[in-house]
Amino acid sequence: MLENLTNRIGNILRIVSGKYKISDSDIKTLLKDFRKTLLDADVSWSVVKHITEGIRNKLLDIEITRKVSPKDIFVKIVIDEFLTILNLNSISNYDDLFNKKGFNTILFAGLHGVGKTTSLVKLANLIKYKNNKSVLVVSCDVYRPAAIDQLKILSSSVNIDCFLDFKLTDDPELIVNKAVNYARAKHYDFLIVDSAGRSHIDDIMMTDLVKIYNVCNPIFSFLVIDSIVGQDGVKSASVFCDRIDISGFFLTKMDSDAKGGVLLSLSFLTKKPIFFIGVGEKISDISYFYPDRIVSRILGFGDIHSLVEDINEKIKDDSSINLKEDQVFCDFKLDDFKNQLIYIIKLGGFENLVEKIPGGYTIDKSLLDKFDNKFFLKMIAIINSMTVKERTFPSLINGSRKKRISSGAGVNVHDISKMLKYYDKMKKLFIKCGSNKSFLESLKNKFF
Ligand code: GDP
Ligand code: MG
Repeated sequence: MLENLTNRIGNILRIVSGKYKISDSDIKTLLKDFRKTLLDADVSWSVVKHITEGIRNKLLDIEITRKVSPKDIFVKIVIDEFLTILNLNSISNYDDLFNKKGFNTILFAGLHGVGKTTSLVKLANLIKYKNNKSVLVVSCDVYRPAAIDQLKILSSSVNIDCFLDFKLTDDPELIVNKAVNYARAKHYDFLIVDSAGRSHIDDIMMTDLVKIYNVCNPIFSFLVIDSIVGQDGVKSASVFCDRIDISGFFLTKMDSDAKGGVLLSLSFLTKKPIFFIGVGEKISDISYFYPDRIVSRILGFGDIHSLVEDINEKIKDDSSINLKEDQVFCDFKLDDFKNQLIYIIKLGGFENLVEKIPGGYTIDKSLLDKFDNKFFLKMIAIINSMTVKERTFPSLINGSRKKRISSGAGVNVHDISKMLKYYDKMKKLFIKCGSNKSFLESLKNKFF
């Protein structure tokens, strides 16, 4: 997620790294590189202009004191500029969003294939299980019966009720009307409506959408935008916003978006907030949109908040564990390491974790391929076969100990040497990444 942008900005930060003073020519180079980076990331020109002018004005204004390094000042200015454009109308409290009393409807709109149906079910699932509300979903895409089936299958996979008591010859308005009446009669808290998408904007789709909007009078209407389509997504967003009262965006496929152009352009150009981001194909792959966490990621500081939330969510059945932020970088002692490996597997693999830790973007991708779940399971088996003493002092593990451990774990001696080597590498890697945290912390303390 956003790796190209993060890498490029990491290179720009190196220009000022270790300097005591930023010269005029440094400012010129910084701004030139920054502009090019944002344009290559497919950020809209007017947004690029706004950001780079903001950075230039602040850099020219700022008085450099000996206390703060030019790099920290530059980072702070960049953070401010990104936050200014991402914070526009952003959501301050997600807890209250779906806690309204009484019956409410939510409308999903967007082009075909952007992830509308998947995102709708992700949100239905979140409202049902996080907000403890009863939810009914309905698709009024009579043009594509397969789309109705898709919603039925996806929603039933997470035990969400789907309204199907209509005919394919009914028009979308009538279907929504029937669904609203049914949902009210059955005392559902929410009805979420999936509208028909097209591969491009056309008048029939828009007219239908306006009619559906008027029938269901939604408390929220979310426009789903695919983050990887680039500026076309931003353009289509403006057309939808002109026709119906869009509350904000559900930005999908962020897991595949290395650039970040749509993310950085959307709110600024439409003056509407991003509510949610889709970060994978699974129903649980939905995140609230927190501008500061995204900016932290873009600048290569990782996203420790989300990582800790993720871990706590995924291990919530294990009541003995409630991870705190500083424990993410816990000692990489062999003994604790086993538990870490189990969490990593539960989290969906090492790559998922590395993405969110400070400096994680600098990690060699070829290294990640070696650390797959099969490898972790083997490591767990090896650690299980060690004595407490060996786990505490791995340097004790000599040839004869390796032989004993290997027969206990059902692996060969070579695997043990390999495992100890990787353990050592990972330990260094985590220490390296963890040490960047103090930089983020110091930034936070200085500026926020
Ligand atoms: P719709 O036509 O707008 O309703 O789109 P669908 O919900 O059918 O999704 C189209 C494709 O995008 C499907 O293969 C989804 O699994 C995929 N998809 C949706 N959201 C995400 C996401 O956040 N990340 C990824 N990687 N794929 C997604
Ligand atoms: Mg669909």
